[in-house]
Amino acid sequence: MCQAFFNDARFYQFLFQIDQAIATEVQSGGCPHCGGVLHSAAYPRKPRGLQSALDGSYARRLSFCCARQECRRRSTPPSVRFLGRKVYLGVIVVLVGALEQGLTPMRRKQLIEQLDLWPQTIARWRQWWREIFVANRCWQAARGEFMPPVAIGQLPGALLGRLNGVDLRHRLCLLLRLVAPITTTSWSGSLRVRIDPQKM
Ligand SMILES: [Zn+2]
Repeated sequence: MCQAFFNDARFYQFLFQIDQAIATEVQSGGCPHCGGVLHSAAYPRKPRGLQSALDGSYARRLSFCCARQECRRRSTPPSVRFLGRKVYLGVIVVLVGALEQGLTPMRRKQLIEQLDLWPQTIARWRQWWREIFVANRCWQAARGEFMPPVAIGQLPGALLGRLNGVDLRHRLCLLLRLVAPITTTSWSGSLRVRIDPQKM
């Protein structure tokens, strides 16, 4: 299952299209501070671990800057690709987190090598899901939709299994969409972008 995702270039292109749709929505709303026009001002990025499946769109995190001279503030749209400042893509942080409990020591070692992970990274991500993610507004707003409640100690796997997608790809997109508000500190509006599994 894992391999298929790590090599699926089309899936990463689809995630980029979602990010573009989110960015278009953010840009059309204008600067949240002064209402000014937002100009494109992407950040260069160099995501670790998946190079072969990624195209040039992954070298940039979409972002905007207010065009008004006296404002100039940043508006970085939420992203389903880049998880804040983490150097690994959100999809890796979700999949490795969901998989790691069932891995044999051998498979775990392979995964660490394949994705160019730092050894302490997996433990740090586990802590991130159970402390940072659960405290964020995106989870505070969504958690009530799950009955019985999602077991915090089994995040993110428990949540991935509970999302109402047509297949794992779709559920992964829904989870990344749910997490997206946590990926930026410079824009905090509510998004209308929906994920259409027909287009995947
Ligand atoms: Zn502004």
